[in-house]
Amino acid sequence: MSFDAIIGQQKAIGFLRRILSSGRIPSALLFLGPADVGKRSTALQLAKALNCRAVPGEGCDQCPTCRKIDAGVHPDVEVIEADGRFIKIDQVRGLAGRLALIPFEASRRVIVIAGAEKMNIQSANAFLKTLEEPPEDTLLVLTAVTVADLLETVVSRCLPVRFAPLGEETVRAVFAGREGVSGEDGLAGEELEFAVSYAQGRLRPGLRNNAGRLMMLRDEMLELLQGIERLPFDEVGEKVDKWSRRDDGEFILETLEAWFHDVALLSAGGGEKRIVNRDRMEALRQWSHRLPGLRADACYRKVLELRSASEVNVNKSLAMEDLWFTVKHNALPLA
Ligand SMILES: [Zn+2]
Repeated sequence: MSFDAIIGQQKAIGFLRRILSSGRIPSALLFLGPADVGKRSTALQLAKALNCRAVPGEGCDQCPTCRKIDAGVHPDVEVIEADGRFIKIDQVRGLAGRLALIPFEASRRVIVIAGAEKMNIQSANAFLKTLEEPPEDTLLVLTAVTVADLLETVVSRCLPVRFAPLGEETVRAVFAGREGVSGEDGLAGEELEFAVSYAQGRLRPGLRNNAGRLMMLRDEMLELLQGIERLPFDEVGEKVDKWSRRDDGEFILETLEAWFHDVALLSAGGGEKRIVNRDRMEALRQWSHRLPGLRADACYRKVLELRSASEVNVNKSLAMEDLWFTVKHNALPLA
């Protein structure tokens, strides 16, 4: 029942089921894996499995406990996530205060720290105290993409559970509306293939819900790139400003990364399997001739640089101009 609603994570679910049936519930779990593959949903299903009296170890989806957890109103099941850029120390202190009290109604309280890497050093250290002296009858579930941005002392106190990227067929089935959330219109045709390819094994709702618009945006950007040697940056700058204003800036950077990754891969003789923009092979081949070998790699590296810089809020337009000139400087004229 409950756990079956999680798509494509049989291994992680199997592991959790074994923990449940052993009856030895650890005080902290760390769910590791890419975003949008079901980590948070699994944590909430686990809360149901631990607290549902109708179908213990699984959850029934029907009883008051299961329904409260699904609705996010169970007093002993809580999701803590970043308030702005970080999970702040006040959030961690508030949680510690609540955990000092006995649970309202749950046999096992479940606290999900979603995106645990967003704890800054102060909040991570404060949280460590909770981990070191875990309150009784409480399960802490941390979710994170990797352990890289977590304190080693936090990681070592949690039992890791790995979540894999989903297979392409699984993503296709969900995006097409054949699996998962029922009642939603599925994607089809070109838009479906575009979204599946860009999803990279993740169920990205933003991508699925805006596939048509984002595909047009990608094509608009490719058109701009096509005439790069004739185009002054002023014209590009206007577009960049428009994209940034509409909050599409992040997707544009992602598109640029995917594009130059594909070009670099092709010009290095890589196979088509790992290509993201499979629906634009003709244009990609042209570009792999325009940016042979290391030239493509130089452009790809520049995009990566731009992406990591944009996370620390540099002037987007200036950074984009820098990238634009790198591509212009490296691209051979269209044959
Ligand atoms: Zn139930």
